Amino acid sequence: MKFQKPKARIGRWPLSAKLLILSSLVTILGFSAICGTVMLDMRRAEHELAKQGSENLATSIDSDIGRTIEQYDLSLRAVVAGVNTPEIGQLSRELRQLILFDKAASSAQFGGFQVFNAAGDLTIDAASLDPAEQNSADENFFKVHKNDGERGLFISKPMLHRGAYSIVLSRRITDVDGNFAGVVVGSIRFSYFHDLFSRLRLSPHETITVVRRDGVVIMRTPFDLDVIGRDLSKTPGVMRVLTRANGSYSGVGAVDNVQRLFVWRDSGRPLIVIVGRPWDGINSLWQKQVWRIGGIMAALIMFIIVGTIFLAREIGRRANAEGKLEELATTDALTGLRNRRKFDAAMEIEWRRAIRGARPIALLLIDADHFKIFNDTYGHQSGDQALIAIAGCIAASAKRAGDCAARYGGEEFAVLLPGSSLRDAMDIAENIRQRVERIPADPAKLSVSIGVASVRPLVTMEWTGLVEAADKALYAAKDAGRNRCAAAENVRRPMVADNMAA
Ligand code: GH3
Ligand code: MG
Ligand code: MG
Repeated sequence: MKFQKPKARIGRWPLSAKLLILSSLVTILGFSAICGTVMLDMRRAEHELAKQGSENLATSIDSDIGRTIEQYDLSLRAVVAGVNTPEIGQLSRELRQLILFDKAASSAQFGGFQVFNAAGDLTIDAASLDPAEQNSADENFFKVHKNDGERGLFISKPMLHRGAYSIVLSRRITDVDGNFAGVVVGSIRFSYFHDLFSRLRLSPHETITVVRRDGVVIMRTPFDLDVIGRDLSKTPGVMRVLTRANGSYSGVGAVDNVQRLFVWRDSGRPLIVIVGRPWDGINSLWQKQVWRIGGIMAALIMFIIVGTIFLAREIGRRANAEGKLEELATTDALTGLRNRRKFDAAMEIEWRRAIRGARPIALLLIDADHFKIFNDTYGHQSGDQALIAIAGCIAASAKRAGDCAARYGGEEFAVLLPGSSLRDAMDIAENIRQRVERIPADPAKLSVSIGVASVRPLVTMEWTGLVEAADKALYAAKDAGRNRCAAAENVRRPMVADNMAA
């Protein structure tokens, strides 16, 4: 006959390994949170920097264009004043030309001044003493001034004017009676803007758009004739530009599908400058840093994870080995039950616990009957197998968490039952006795005698008293004919129980 020893189970992850995993997780989360915050801050700083740069650019372009228009407007006003001075009208053409256009801005970037009378006919031309026949009554700038006496300076849409793409600047001439007397016209050529923008170092996809107060695009770089003159007043971004003094918005350009940060400066002048910077460019430096720091972080996290798994498994393995060693040191090699040393230690602990909790504690002492004869008859090896079988019966009956079943020595066993009354302990003892009786050990039958004692210990009592009482009960069971359980009535006076098997 072959019997299995009861096996011990050992937990896989000890507390130290769990703590290690937890601390690694906290470290990883902490690192990630710090890195995430730093990266977000960096992103915010990059955006702020880009916004500031664009604002500065918009401001400087706005003031350059504003100054130029102001200067040009001054010249227009001077011509209007001159035309309205009767004495100048009586001078010779050469003198009049000299006086009228003396202060007029003249450069390749500006178209020459022209004066049209109330009928729209060209009367004075800065470029010629003999102005060619020309009528501008149908031109928009003429109609605007004719119909609106309060218009002041009017800037036209971009147009082909005197052979060059320009914006036409004009002012109304009003006679002494307040009637419309004509228009003074000048122009700023696109070359002025080209020259202005060429002095800037713009990154690819960066745009500068100059719009009139009604949303018409006056100029744009990169130059695109399709956009120039287009009315953008209905696009949501430009709507904001036209209603607020300064600000920024994120959106797609009117020409291409590039996402940009648009920043504008409106200093109250007739034209508004919008600088658009592509988000790709703004984020590129930040993205590089994200990749670099993210890569380092990922490597670090991988290192921590791999290291933690390795260490945790190592701790687990060691704890397992320690557990096995401990198990070996406290286990009886033959039967797999606890050994005497472990039993004594468990007895110490449970005895004190029973005193503290004022709870009963019971002890079974189990002895194989006529085992010497069994040994002598069937041999020592069969005797060992029989002891393993008896241990199996004991382990199967004493299964509660605090129960401690041990080989007490030779063919004797002990079972400690914390919290058990004498009646409970007797039930368990009887259970063991019956199980042993049913062991299939042909031709001989195995049996055990069991002494049972239970006590509610007091501080003054020693646990040896309980052992003595159980031992006496065991002897009583032997004396009464074996294969039976005997209960000690109290720790001093054992009492023989009836043969329950009978
Ligand atoms: P009783 O019913 O009065 O207990 O009679 P008994 O023969 O069982 O008692 P005794 O103390 O005279 O004999 C105990 C025997 O148990 C002696 C020994 O041969 C046997 N024994 C003790 N330890 C072992 C062991 O580890 N293996 C085997 N096979 N036999 C053992
Ligand atoms: Mg014995
Ligand atoms: Mg015996």
